[in-house]
Amino acid sequence: MLALIKIFVKLISNRYNIFMNPELLHEYIERISCLLDSEARMVGADLNLQPVQLNALNYINRSNRYSNTPQGVTEYLGLTKGTVSQTLSILESNGLIKKSPDKKDGRVVRLNVTAAGNKLLRKAIPSPSIRNTWEGLNEQDQSALVDGLKQLLLEMQKTNGMQAFGICGTCRFNSKRGEKKFFCELTQENLTLKDTELLCREHQSIEQETTPNVV
Ligand code: SF4
Repeated sequence: MLALIKIFVKLISNRYNIFMNPELLHEYIERISCLLDSEARMVGADLNLQPVQLNALNYINRSNRYSNTPQGVTEYLGLTKGTVSQTLSILESNGLIKKSPDKKDGRVVRLNVTAAGNKLLRKAIPSPSIRNTWEGLNEQDQSALVDGLKQLLLEMQKTNGMQAFGICGTCRFNSKRGEKKFFCELTQENLTLKDTELLCREHQSIEQETTPNVV
């Protein structure tokens, strides 16, 4: 959290000579969230999509084979099952995702993004304002901003007891087995390089190995 405060102090507070406090941090994040929602609404306007539906589409696109399920969407977005069910129906009826039964367990539904869904995501993410802001920062500020926000997210997930959903390549169960070859020690399955870039609901950070009670 300290790093995040330092970043905001450096990027905003020093520039505008304002005093930082948690209320201000909350306000900035709330405003950023509103701006992102507004941009997402514009991208999804032709299909009458809401920001939450684009968020679900993005999650499905970023999730690995253990996580691309309605349950994964529910946990990742912190929504009710009913809302997720409705969201997935809208995405499917617009041809943005496909549902299919799991090859090993037919009771499990797998979700995959279609070519049309991918095309929409390329327009939506990153949002134009995020892209412009990013390009206006130097490498040091880009890195500091991402590190600080990552730390904020991890702290908030701990406080809320939410599933961490980290990127596979940073998981304690990920074992490198050669050039572009990886293995999941939890599921005992091989992983490709592409797999290691995806989100996983089973992810555990390296710190969790030494502090198992911390989610
Ligand atoms: S290594 Fe971790 S993140 Fe990757 S598939 Fe296994 S449990 Fe999931």
